[in-house]
Amino acid sequence: MQHVGYMRTAVRLAKYALDHDETPVACIFVHTPTGQVMAYGMNDTNKSLTGVAHAEFMGIDQIKAMVGSRGVVDVFKDITLYVTVEPCIMCASALKQLGIGKVVFGCGNERFGGNGTVLSVNHDTCTLAARSKAATGYESIPGILRKEAIMLLRYFYVRQNEKAPKPRSKSDRVLDKDTFPPMEWSKYIGEESFLENFGHDYKAYYANGTDLFNDNVDWKLIESRHDNIIQELNDQCKSFKFNVQKKSKV
Ligand SMILES: [Zn+2]
Repeated sequence: MQHVGYMRTAVRLAKYALDHDETPVACIFVHTPTGQVMAYGMNDTNKSLTGVAHAEFMGIDQIKAMVGSRGVVDVFKDITLYVTVEPCIMCASALKQLGIGKVVFGCGNERFGGNGTVLSVNHDTCTLAARSKAATGYESIPGILRKEAIMLLRYFYVRQNEKAPKPRSKSDRVLDKDTFPPMEWSKYIGEESFLENFGHDYKAYYANGTDLFNDNVDWKLIESRHDNIIQELNDQCKSFKFNVQKKSKV
C-alpha cells in the first residue's frame, strides 16, 4: 500500500519536529501522477509564536513559491497530501479552496478536525471560493499509521506536562503505550469508498473500528531520531522543481 510508505515519511518528519520541541504534526505534498514529493511542512507554532503556522501552510507556501500563485489551482488537483493528524477546520478549508486532489491522514484531530471529527469541511460546499475551479470537495482517507501519530502526540503532551510549573495530575504525566480509541472509519469515509481504497478483504474492519495495517505500533519508526529527513526532503523537492522547470522550457 503506497499510502503507508508516504505516511512513514510524514511520521519521520513529525518525529523530527518533536525532537526540536515542536508539536509533532507534519505533512508531505506528493505529485500524484509522478509520485514525487513536491513540498513538506511541519508545525512551527511554538517557534514562530503564531497559532496559524500549521504544517499544511508551510507546504502550501513552498508550492506557491514554486509555481506562482496563478498556477496553484492547476497543480493542486494533482496533489495528494499525507499529514499525520487530520487537518484542522482552517487548513481543511484552505486545501479545499485550492482544489487539492486527496488528503490521507493518520489520526483524527479531536478538537479542531475539519475532515470529519468536528466538521466535514472537505465535503461541504459552503466555503468554496466563487472563483475556485474546485467544484466539489476532496476525498479524505483516515487511519494510515494512526497509532504512530497518536503516540507522537502523547510523547509531546507528557513532556509539556513535565515542563509545566505546576504539573497536572499524575495521570497526565503517565505515558499510555497500550490503549487506543477505536478507529471510527464512518466519521471520515463512506463504506463504499473504504472498500474501493482498501479492498473487500477488509470489510469487517470498517464496522469493527479496527486499524488496517498496524495492529502493532512501529516503535522503531517513532523512537528513532530522523535527523537527515530535512535534507532528504529538500533533495526530493529540488529534483521535482528541476523537472517542472525543464518541462516548462520545452
Ligand atoms: Zn491547521
